[in-house]
Amino acid sequence: MANKTQSVFDVAVVGAGLVGLAAAIALAEQGKRIVLVDAKERAGYTSSTWDARIYAITPSTEAFLKALGVWAFVNAARINPVKAMDLWHEGASDSLNLLADDANLDKLACIVENNQLMHALWERVDALDVTMVLGSPCTDIEYQDDTVVVDLVNGQQISASLLVAADGVNSFVRQQLGLATNDKDFDQVALVANYVVEKAHGNIARQWFSPHETLALLPLPQQQVSMVWALETERAKQLLSLSEESLAEQVEVQARGQLGQLKAASKTYSFPLHQITASKLIAERVVLIGDSAHQVHPMAGQGANLGFRDVMSLAKLMTSSHALQDIGDATFLRRYERDRKADVVSMNTLTSGLDYFFSSNNQLMKRLATSSMEQLEKRLSMKNILIKQAVA
Ligand SMILES: Cc1cc2nc3c(=O)[nH]c(=O)nc-3n(C[C@H](O)[C@H](O)[C@H](O)COP(=O)(O)OP(=O)(O)OC[C@H]3O[C@@H](n4cnc5c(N)ncnc54)[C@H](O)[C@@H]3O)c2cc1C
Repeated sequence: MANKTQSVFDVAVVGAGLVGLAAAIALAEQGKRIVLVDAKERAGYTSSTWDARIYAITPSTEAFLKALGVWAFVNAARINPVKAMDLWHEGASDSLNLLADDANLDKLACIVENNQLMHALWERVDALDVTMVLGSPCTDIEYQDDTVVVDLVNGQQISASLLVAADGVNSFVRQQLGLATNDKDFDQVALVANYVVEKAHGNIARQWFSPHETLALLPLPQQQVSMVWALETERAKQLLSLSEESLAEQVEVQARGQLGQLKAASKTYSFPLHQITASKLIAERVVLIGDSAHQVHPMAGQGANLGFRDVMSLAKLMTSSHALQDIGDATFLRRYERDRKADVVSMNTLTSGLDYFFSSNNQLMKRLATSSMEQLEKRLSMKNILIKQAVA
């Protein structure tokens, strides 16, 4: 240890994904000395090609990213507002429509590419005093006096009062600290791709629920939609083996021809789907944020939003600290855990519940789902509650 270089910071953020970058920005803006560590080198994120990985960003996340000075770096021409949501259930004759106008909102969400957001976050980090150590995974975590010490592959040691673990769903930090997780395997894969559509999407996000399957077609600029199709692993494998044209035809059928003919505008990517929740969101001098704390089913399009809300909560806690506060102190950090637990539990309940409710093969559940959708469609007050939940 004696021959290693050791640098001391207030906060070490491990993981420079969407959520880690946002945390580094929010805490650097408060004047904290930040080091940002990632196993990978920084990638290039500007490209004229459309990224198949997209996010439905809620208005509150958008407001947060604006306040951080990030949103200004997103190319406005590549953002698509969602003015309405149409939800279809297999057995129902009509869809449930949720309109931003009905709830006096300008929009329900924004569809933004992963590459655009990553580019914007990095641009903002560059403008701040953040030390970066990229391309060097952490290999060990230990404690010394009032600090947590992170060992990196390159031989560097980083010492900080607080370690923010933003190192994704297979979090090294979480595993190293022996924090247990509750795991649920949906036996589903999400197929993700962009399509150019024949009929105008009208800025509507459309979602179709059928037994153990959800298909979402989200509006993108230039008459495109982004597909997130969650379906059983075996069926996903079969679809992935099809030609681009045949897969597009399958999507058209699943979408009941609502958008006419589809033409592939990207490769198709696949992601296995799990729900992974850390049993504790804090440890000694450590907080977990983003997918390292919770990975949720993408059907509600909320994973990244949930991670950004972790950052909001952490930043709020840090603002409340006085000059002599030990920011790694467990009693202090417990406030973050208390604040975040309910949100994480309710998101898990929502996505698992929706999967069970709409996707069940059981005839009674099917009829219940269908009639619930039809009843909801008739009740504006209930629809407004759903909208408020969706945009939170
Ligand atoms: C198909 C699909 C569709 C989705 N759609 C949406 C959507 O519409 N809206 C939404 O809000 N969310 C969506 N999500 C969820 C969203 O993608 C994730 O919640 C989000 O990307 C998690 O970001 P993160 O920064 O926590 O983790 P990651 O993006 O996984 O970043 C983790 C970082 O940690 C680094 N790292 C890992 N190990 C180490 C180590 N040992 N040392 C140092 N660094 C390390 C990695 O290199 C990486 O850069 C979707 C997810 C899927 C799978």
